[in-house]
Formats: sequence, C-alpha cells, structure tokens
Amino acid sequence: MSRFLNDRYLSLKEYVPGEQPRDMKYVKLNTNESPFPPSEGVVDAINADSVRLLKLYPDPDCSELREKIAGLFGYGKENVFVANGSDDILNFSFMAFCGADSHSVVFPEISYGFYKVYADLYGVDYTEIPLAQDFSVDPEDYIGIGKNIVIANPNAPTGLALDRATVERIVASNPDNLVLVDEAYVDFGAESCVGLVGKYDNLLVVRTFSKSYSLAGARLGFAIGSEGLIADLNKIKFSTNPYNINRLSMIAGCRAIEDNMYYMNNCKIIARTRRRVTEELRNIGFEVLDSKTNFIFARTPEMGGEELYAELKKRGVLVRHFARESIKDFNRITIGTDDEMNVFLRAVKEILGK
Ligand code: PMP
Repeated sequence: MSRFLNDRYLSLKEYVPGEQPRDMKYVKLNTNESPFPPSEGVVDAINADSVRLLKLYPDPDCSELREKIAGLFGYGKENVFVANGSDDILNFSFMAFCGADSHSVVFPEISYGFYKVYADLYGVDYTEIPLAQDFSVDPEDYIGIGKNIVIANPNAPTGLALDRATVERIVASNPDNLVLVDEAYVDFGAESCVGLVGKYDNLLVVRTFSKSYSLAGARLGFAIGSEGLIADLNKIKFSTNPYNINRLSMIAGCRAIEDNMYYMNNCKIIARTRRRVTEELRNIGFEVLDSKTNFIFARTPEMGGEELYAELKKRGVLVRHFARESIKDFNRITIGTDDEMNVFLRAVKEILGK
C-alpha cells in the first residue's frame, strides 16, 4: 500500500479469485469454466481481419451484440445491457442502485463473495441473510423486506436453486426495490427469470458468457431489465468507461449467440456428467448438495475440506475450498469433461482408500 491511497479504501478487503496456476498442468476444476472450447463460429470469426480492426475503438453502444441478445430472449435492445464480464454489471449495479436507507441491500450470507466486496467498496448499507439449515435460500426471508435484494440463482457455491415462481414472489413483494437475480449458472438446469422482466420493472437479471458460453477469457456479461434500469446502467458505463467491451469479445459474443444450440447442448452434457459424479460421490459416503449448476458442493465425514483440497492438488486436481467456518468441510468442484471427472473420482477414491 502506498501513502497515497484514499482513506476510504484502507480497510477494504478485495475479492480473491480462484487460483489460475502456472506451475504445472492441473485438471482444473476450481473456477467453473466450461471444459468445452468456444464454437467453431467464434473461432473462425476471431481472425486476422478482426485483429486488424483493433486499431479502431469498438462500438460504445454495442448495438449488434445487444440486438442479438435481445432477439434470443424476445426483448428489445433497450432491455439489454452488456459489459466486461458480469462482475462489471454487478459493480455498476451496486454503484447505480445501492447506498443507504431506501437503497440499502440484502444478500445471502453464503453466496458469491463479490457482493460484499462491492457493498464495502461503495459504502453501501447491507445485511447478509443466513441460509437455511440445508444451505438453501429461504424465500420467506426476502418477501416484502423493503430493501434491494441481490441473489444468485442458482446460488454459488451451494449450487441450489429457487424455482421461478418463488423468485417471482420475492420480486412482486418488493415493488419499490430492485431485485437483482444473478443467473450466472442458470443454463445448467435451473429456471430463468428473464421471462418476468416484461412484467416487473424492479427485476434485473444478470447473465454471463463465462460459463455456459465457454468465453470466460473474453470477459462478457449481460443484463436484461426494464428500459429504465438499463438506461441507469448505461449512465454509469458512460460515466466510467464507454468502450468497456473490446472488439474481439463483441464479435465472439455475437457469434456465440448465433451458435446457441452448440452451447445449450454442452450444458446438457455437463448436467449429465454432474448427475453421474454426484451419484458416484454419494455412493462413497459424500454429502452432495443438489446442484443445478456446472459445479457441485460436496463434503465427506471422513476428511476435512481443506485437507481433501490439498490432497487433490498434490495429485494434480484443483478444486475450490472456502475457509468460511460454516462451509469449511465442503469443496466446490467444477464439472469438467467425463475424462477429467474420472481423474478426479480416481484421486478421491485413492485419498480416502476406497
Ligand atoms: N456471479 C456468480 C455467481 C459467479 O460465480 C461469477 C463467477 N465468478 C460471476 C458472477 C462473475 O462472472 P463473470 O464476471 O466471469 O461474468
């Protein structure tokens, strides 16, 4: 830290991303990336011609990409916001909509760790709501709460999801507050709330190309919401970084939408592998939460979460462990290819002597 840092940030605890190791080749099951490459359409579109055009700024309005996304979900371009990863959208949303008093915000105590970081960054008045005993989000805690709400659905790192009707009850019961539903993992088997956006002007659905669309490295996220909410997000974007999506990512996103079938099929493959791995782990005594995502959250009574994480790492398999007391027995395991998961399962069995 230098002596120049604004006092406001002295106690800020930044988000710690999952490891991106360079020391050796791991079976990498720690940051919920897709095991499948982008579609051939995307690979072809990023070519010498598109690289040459990097000399020019990208379209600050992101018109083509917004139109393509809008078309996929049956909305207009004015209902779509795009940004540099969904993290960027969460950042803008906390900046735009959250603060003190009527702008205060609640989110689950165990959820995506970045919500708290943004809340701290912007000095937002926030409350973390504990999960139920079974690690689910209890909707009753949010009904008519009269504060802004941020929920990941499915939630991370638990992988558990609320159904659409339940989220709708939360949205409908808080008409004067924003409900941001982070659907980063929805394509892997949960019910999306995008269809509710036309009905509720207080609902913002945030999505990403990083998981189901195999584009984590492109940094591309989008949000769907009422025209007013999208205009507010654009106000923040044009007040910070108008060219927040680079040309190549914009091209990749457009082509990915055109190849939607390829990606949705990959999601089905991942969901099938998830079911198999869940079953195999349960057969050897693991508790595995009922995931609707591209990862599972699992613990064994035979070994602590951190130790299992370390033993797996020694064997070249990287998973994610969170030190937080209430979930320290668990590991979050990204679903890779069937071959990768076989390596993972073999390593687990070896470690536990099964
Ligand atoms: N929301 C959730 C729940 C996540 O797990 C992640 C990935 N770390 C993100 C948002 C951010 O994803 P990205 O910025 O890659 O779109």
